[in-house]
Amino acid sequence: VLLGVALLFQALVVWLSRLMSQQAMIPIRQAYMRQQQFVADASHELRTPLSVLLSSIETLHIEDRPTNDSFEKRVLEGIKDEVQRMIRLTGNLLLLARRDSGQAVLHNAWFDLADIAVQTADKMSVLAEAKQIKLELEAPDELRVCLDQEKIVQLLVILLENAIKYTAAGGSVKLTVAHKAAPLGGKLVLEVRDTGVGIPEEELSRIFDRFYRLDKSRSRQMGGHGLGLAIAKHIVEECRGTIRVESRPGEGSVFRVEMTDMLPPSER
Ligand code: ADP
Repeated sequence: VLLGVALLFQALVVWLSRLMSQQAMIPIRQAYMRQQQFVADASHELRTPLSVLLSSIETLHIEDRPTNDSFEKRVLEGIKDEVQRMIRLTGNLLLLARRDSGQAVLHNAWFDLADIAVQTADKMSVLAEAKQIKLELEAPDELRVCLDQEKIVQLLVILLENAIKYTAAGGSVKLTVAHKAAPLGGKLVLEVRDTGVGIPEEELSRIFDRFYRLDKSRSRQMGGHGLGLAIAKHIVEECRGTIRVESRPGEGSVFRVEMTDMLPPSER
């Protein structure tokens, strides 16, 4: 009887302490939710005036101005670039805040990943050509998958944009899309390989953190905010995949994404 009472008492103590720690967490959780909501609301509110500002600048048709207005033209182009940068930043903050508060949803549907890779590489080739970087693509003729197409495009754009940004003229960037068959369902592999500046080993674990940038002065000139890889990681995790990086300073980097196979059974 004594043993029974002791066990009952112990169970009661455990239950009470759990309840108390849960109660103690409530204000912390509420404060965190309020902060997330604030970031989401602020980003949302900022987007409207910024978009109005951008369309006002665009109505000035800066590019059509005669060259004797060159100072004014340069100033206006600078304002336009910064406004576009702020629109991207607020968009990214909104996206991360929505994800944190569990408001993000995946819109999975069937599409041809090989075709999407061709289209995305094609769009990015303008950026690569402007920097005299060779952009290559290796993909099968067709690869039907069931994923969120918009998010996969966003993921590819982030990785390709970075690869181009952190590679000097004369270098190369390669996007590989593949399906690897395996006995218990295959996997999709997306790989972006560059011959750029590379990342020191001690920094590799931090580059996926929000607002983390390696060389602040260099990165600032490149125009990002240190949110690209944080978003890429979220997208991959939402799709239940993994993202890994291998890199050597001065030699280049490889970002490799692996996702579980979502192919039609007939194509496995
Ligand atoms: P951003 O590029 O806007 O700074 P990211 O989150 O996309 O932010 O990347 C974080 C940091 O990781 C970058 O500032 C850069 O230093 C480093 N990085 C990302 N991709 C590469 C790459 N392909 N080569 C070298 N460094 C990279």
